Formats: sequence, structure tokens, C-alpha cells
Amino acid sequence: MTGSQRGDARPAGAGCVSGFRGGAHRPVRSGARLVFRVLAVPLAPMMALLLRLSSRRQGIAVVYHGLAARSGKPELELVAPHGTDVFERQVRHLARTYHVVPAADLQRAATERRRGARFPAAITFDDDLASHVELALPILRRIGVSATFCLTGATLKGPHSFWWQRLQHAVNADPSRLPDLFEALGAPERRTAATDPRAIHELARLVEALDVPAREAFARMLPDVPASAEVGVPPGGVQALASAGMAIGLHTRRHDPLPSLGDDALAAAFAEGRDELERAAGQRLVVVAYPHGRADRRVARVAREAGFTAGYTGVPVPVRAGDDPLILGRITPSHRSGRHLALQMVVVLLRRKGSAQRS
Ligand SMILES: [Zn+2]
Repeated sequence: MTGSQRGDARPAGAGCVSGFRGGAHRPVRSGARLVFRVLAVPLAPMMALLLRLSSRRQGIAVVYHGLAARSGKPELELVAPHGTDVFERQVRHLARTYHVVPAADLQRAATERRRGARFPAAITFDDDLASHVELALPILRRIGVSATFCLTGATLKGPHSFWWQRLQHAVNADPSRLPDLFEALGAPERRTAATDPRAIHELARLVEALDVPAREAFARMLPDVPASAEVGVPPGGVQALASAGMAIGLHTRRHDPLPSLGDDALAAAFAEGRDELERAAGQRLVVVAYPHGRADRRVARVAREAGFTAGYTGVPVPVRAGDDPLILGRITPSHRSGRHLALQMVVVLLRRKGSAQRS
């Protein structure tokens, strides 16, 4: 779910994967980013080559959500899709410059990397979106790389829309609803700020912070997204992905932020719907992508106990040899171009510190 990426070189974090961030525009900071981008983008390929001379035992996981004919606007959309042209150029860059492996094998490939070798990279997708099968799969097959699709399984029995999808759909249809929705969430003081459509990110942060019953009540306030707009991934779609050599991972059926759940609800989150997905995929699910990109040590422990061998958050840090395999970072590629992703990758590989944990 949810993205708020401004398409610059440094990953800003995307909603479903790392919480709702968008909103207020910071002119000075974006000015500096522009200069950084103009200067650094042309240098990225050379920097990537120089980095290969190091013995860093690292890799990078990237996360996409929906694809569409054109890239969406991260500042106005919670989960802005990537344009198929941008996606294809980015995957070609990864296939040309990195060693693309399944998400389940990324940390092992990073650990085994030797000086001069390509850095391993893993392509992942979150959420249950029809574009996984209709748009992403043909491009991945054409380029000859695999990806890991982390699904909730919520659309195995028919179309289903989560609160952020309903929110986006409602605001797209009528942006003037935003102030009322802030009021409905007990934030009438934000009505004025809510006239700016970018405030949808702030509203989403408020919803994400609610407890489960309150969030479900908020979802019921909004009209369902019509099936014509999003059918999700029915069993046939899961089979199509799996039989094309893609891996399937878990994204948890209810997509609740896991650190906020009690122990019983947390254990249930890793079990609910897993069998159904495994049956549809014909494979065991060993990778989990944490909803909203959030996981702490307790979440990682329960995921390990549930038999998962790799767990991905939404923190934009590299995957390193010594990391907890159940708390690994991921970056959201720029919505702009393959060249911007090239720079993002180099910037992240240069990052030595920083935990992938996010509570
Ligand atoms: Zn998600």
C-alpha cells in the first residue's frame, strides 16, 4: 500500500512500505536535491563501477506497487504507480548492472559477494494489484528476471479494497472531502491545511496510527473501490505469477501495522490466509514484507517462529551480511527514470550504517 515518493535520488520512503510521509513541500531542501540530482545522476554508472571494486558484502532490495501507463504523482497519491516505461528501464538497469536474485536469497548472495563481483539485487512487489500480472509480469519475462510478489491474499475470493485505496478513490473523485475526513478523525484544526490535496498523506498517517476497530470504522465511512478499477490478484493470477517462475511472499491478510498488535494478533497475522496463498501459488511462503514497512525485534521474532526466513521493511538501507534476516531494508525506486534509480542504488550502497527496523 501507499507511496509518497517525490522521485528524487534519495529514497523518501513510500507509504505502504514506510508510512505516509508526503505533504508539505520544502523548497530549499528540494532545491538542494535538484542540484544533487543534476550533478550526481550522470556520475552514477561510474560510481557503481567503482563500488564493485570494494569487498562490501551488501545487496539492495527494491519495492514496487502498482504499474500504469504513466507514473503517478507521489505528492498527491498514497501509492503512486510506476509508469511501465520507467519500470522497464529500471529493470533493464538492474539486470545490466546488478545480479538479480529472489528476495529469499538476497542476504545469502550479499554474504557470498567477492570484490569485483556485481552486487546482488532483489525486485519485490507489495499488495494485491491487477497490474502485477497484466503489466509487470510480461516486462519481467521479456527481460528474463524474477521478482517476489508479496500478497495479502485479500482478493483471492473476489475484489477487496483496503482503507487507503478507498481514501484515494474518494479524494480523487472529490478532493473537497479531505477537510471533512480530518474532522471525522477528530482533527478539525487541520481543515484549512486539508484544502491542499497533498494533505492526503497526513490524513493517512492519522489513519495508520488508529487502532484496528477505529481504522476499520474509518474504512466503512468510504465507498468501496469499484471492481472495474481494481480486481486485485485472484487465484488464477497467483498461479500465473508462480508458474512464470516468480516467488510469492506474504504481506499479511489485514495489512495492519504489525508493531501495534498484541502478541496473539501478531502471531495470527502471520498465519491468516497463508495456507490459501500457498495453495494458490503451489509454493511455500518464506518471505514476508511487513505492511507499512514496519517491523521491530518482537515482530521479527514472531515472523521467525512462523517459519519465515526473510523479512523486509521499508527502511531505505542496503541488505548486509550481518543483518537480522527478518529485518532487511528496501528502497522504493524513483518514479522518474532508470537513471534516477541508478543513482538511488549507489547512494544506498554507500550507506554503511542505519538499521532496517521501523516500529
Ligand atoms: Zn502494502
